[in-house]
Amino acid sequence: MNSNNETFITSILDYSAPGTGVTKYIFVTGGVLSSVGKGITTASIGLLLKARGYSVTAIKIDPYINVDAGTMNPYMHGEVYVTEDGGETDLDLGHYERFLGVNLSKRNNITTGQIYLSVIERERRGDYLGQTVQVIPHITNEIKFRIREVAKLTDADIVLVEVGGTVGDIEGLPFLEAIRQMGLEEGSSNTLYIHVALVPVLTTTGEQKTKPVQHSVQELRRIGIQPDIIIARSTKPLEDEARRKIALYANLPPEAVFSNPDVEYIYEVPLILEEQGLGSFIVKRLDLKDRKPDLDYWKEFISRLKSSTKPVRIAMVGKYTKLKDSYLSIIEAIRHAAATLKLRPILNWYESTMIEKGDLSPQKPVEENDAVIVLPGFGARGTEGKIAVIREVIEKKKPFLGICFGMQLAVVAIARYLAGLREAHSTEINPKTPYPVIDLLEEQRQVDRLGGTMRLGSYPIKLIHGTLVHKLYNGKEIVYERHRHRYEVNPLYLDKLVAAGMEVSGYSLDKGRVEFIELRDHPFFVGSQPHPEFKSRPMNPAPLFIGLLEHSYRVSG
Ligand code: GLN
Repeated sequence: MNSNNETFITSILDYSAPGTGVTKYIFVTGGVLSSVGKGITTASIGLLLKARGYSVTAIKIDPYINVDAGTMNPYMHGEVYVTEDGGETDLDLGHYERFLGVNLSKRNNITTGQIYLSVIERERRGDYLGQTVQVIPHITNEIKFRIREVAKLTDADIVLVEVGGTVGDIEGLPFLEAIRQMGLEEGSSNTLYIHVALVPVLTTTGEQKTKPVQHSVQELRRIGIQPDIIIARSTKPLEDEARRKIALYANLPPEAVFSNPDVEYIYEVPLILEEQGLGSFIVKRLDLKDRKPDLDYWKEFISRLKSSTKPVRIAMVGKYTKLKDSYLSIIEAIRHAAATLKLRPILNWYESTMIEKGDLSPQKPVEENDAVIVLPGFGARGTEGKIAVIREVIEKKKPFLGICFGMQLAVVAIARYLAGLREAHSTEINPKTPYPVIDLLEEQRQVDRLGGTMRLGSYPIKLIHGTLVHKLYNGKEIVYERHRHRYEVNPLYLDKLVAAGMEVSGYSLDKGRVEFIELRDHPFFVGSQPHPEFKSRPMNPAPLFIGLLEHSYRVSG
């Protein structure tokens, strides 16, 4: 199953895998609680090193048994982030890409599932004949191999490795053992351990409590890892007394303890850490030359974020609205575009299931906002709610962006209410519809396994001259966007849809699939089969979001 099995086998023989001494590795572990912003901290550290002229890549380790995040409910796990090469990965890869301004590979997300899958496959093939296959060395070797493979393929000066979860989790142990071994093999000047841990503040006294950090550092040391740096996550800046205590118990000088307080925008974290000297501390500890960091562009972006005051209200219509992380990249893409246009986005969330049940009027999102986004999704629940909102959007001529499922349901609404195909639907929701305007992709008909089998990753799209989308992409002939879907616009209905007012603004270069649509008789109505949010960067916002916001502000203002 893996084209790289040959190299994997070599790695097993290469038992102790001595380090090259060329690559520097920074390992980031978490303490006390998960979800305290370890991913953003890791991305921020990457940015500080990149700003010093070093090439950086970042790996996220997820100790769960799933092979990838693709089969997980966004409620459990947040958004599934899609890479250029079609990986369905953890949302932290999105943070890394946005902060570092790079494209990462699916190899940058390592899970327990991947590790065991390849080790067990090799065992079944007989590659370990005679041996007892064990966590140490076989699993830990596979982990180290995959980390080093990313280093080799990217040729990065510095590889950041974030271990998901918290120290003490049973499933994280083989990973911590592997990174401990890497410290020995690569040498201490080539490896650095950073522990990011929560320092809770007592609501009654306002006091910062360091005991949980002390315990998580003890646990880390029990495993054999002495952290070089502690980054204390807290609602407020770390007090001196707390810093001294953490340093003492962690066996570190107070200068190795950094404060990472809550901020308004996650993009401020690198600057807060830089002010405390974290960038220089790391490069010196790794025996690298310190250079003056180039952070002006980043500072300028933050000042735009903070000084943008003209409000633009956006309705976010979806099914997973209770966990905003489900749509993380879309929120960030809106922020990037808004900062560029000096607008302040106000996101109002509408649960499509409530609209479907009649508990919320489909007019609300349209009336209460300057623009409407219908979000990506899967399955039947809530779809009629989304379609009802899109019908309103069409009638009221409200600026609209439909992403993936949102685009597919826009086509359903156009078929039903403009083309007169009343029972039109996607076969994902109603396989018996007489008008299957959205249907399964041809190559999906033979697919019987759900993991990693969608149309995934970046594909070239040919844009049609004269369309709004073509204009938004600055007149480019071909653009690349990332995909994650099984269904598509059924070409058999294109004539009817076009006759009813729809326009196709982009087709896939390979098979002529519909990638973007718009409405002729509407000021801004765009549907996008790919997810433009995944390629939006602070310095390089996604054109479709720019278009939507610019237009909405012009209309409302
Ligand atoms: N469920 C739709 C499909 O599989 C849309 C997927 C999405 O929104 N990411 O095509």
